[in-house]
Amino acid sequence: MYNLEELKSILVVEVAERLGIKVTKNKAMCFNNHDKKTPSLSFNTKENYWYCFGCNEGGNPIQLVQKVLRINFVDACHWLSKEFSITSGYSKDRSLTFNMNQFIQGHKSISEKIDRANPHIEVYEWLVNYCTLDTNAYKYLVKDRKFNKEVIMHFNVKSIENPTQVFHKAKSVWGIDRLLKCGLAKISDRDTPVFIWTSPVILFPFYNLDNRIEYLQGRQIGDREPRYINLNGIRTHIYSINVLNQIGKNDFLYICEGITDVLSAYQMGIKAIGILGANNFKDEWVYYFTNYRIRIIPDSDKGGNEFAINVQNAFRKIGKPVQIIKLKDAKDLTEYRVRRCV
Ligand SMILES: [Zn+2]
Repeated sequence: MYNLEELKSILVVEVAERLGIKVTKNKAMCFNNHDKKTPSLSFNTKENYWYCFGCNEGGNPIQLVQKVLRINFVDACHWLSKEFSITSGYSKDRSLTFNMNQFIQGHKSISEKIDRANPHIEVYEWLVNYCTLDTNAYKYLVKDRKFNKEVIMHFNVKSIENPTQVFHKAKSVWGIDRLLKCGLAKISDRDTPVFIWTSPVILFPFYNLDNRIEYLQGRQIGDREPRYINLNGIRTHIYSINVLNQIGKNDFLYICEGITDVLSAYQMGIKAIGILGANNFKDEWVYYFTNYRIRIIPDSDKGGNEFAINVQNAFRKIGKPVQIIKLKDAKDLTEYRVRRCV
């Protein structure tokens, strides 16, 4: 018999590295070799699991060993026990106990650090993992907006088809106080706590530089207004800021308005981040981008002009020139791309 709990609690990143996978900032090129440029394999150090957005597969450390080495469960347990010198059942071996404690300590300190930074992350990640991408949302993205599957998976786009059911589940897992604190619930006009999304939405997770989900935005499916619904009372974040992990000094970085243009940019082979709202670019954000050549792609309307000038002014304060790209005969980058069938 193997001590499964012990095997499952070996740090998944350590297991990956022992399997020869090179992990950088909790990301790696997938062991199935489908990654050409961007890594799809990611590691959740808090929950200790792995997930590949390309293969749509994930699991605990034992399952990682099974997949990478293409062996069965028992063989994977055997491999792990040997690699990490874990004997079956309880062990009186001191050095072993010491090792395990180190693993657990390491695990804890990582998750505590993250929790201090943003305690809402675990709730957002739970929600995104819990949700799938339903047919209507998929149809909207693929048929109407002509996004390809790889783009949708890269940004881990999900949807909430049945808000009542999801809210019910979220309450049972986190409790209503927690949901109110992290902006997923609000107090209604009738003084009762309600879900912020009351009709079906497409769910866009915002990954931070550690590839953790720090913010969420819902886009109502169809023509319902308002189209975009943000978390209640939580400061918005930059969409797709983790793209900075994939670009080098002096590379071009595009700044778009909103989320779908960032997806469009990606589909066109352009690295972009998204800002929600014309006046939302914070001056201090320029420090993320000092190493790159900046190009702004505003929407072709009054709001877009305002947006471009705001961003340009923020960079001007630190003496950094930026370029503004005006789109010809398209209201935004997504329309531009769809017209050109990219
Ligand atoms: Zn994969």
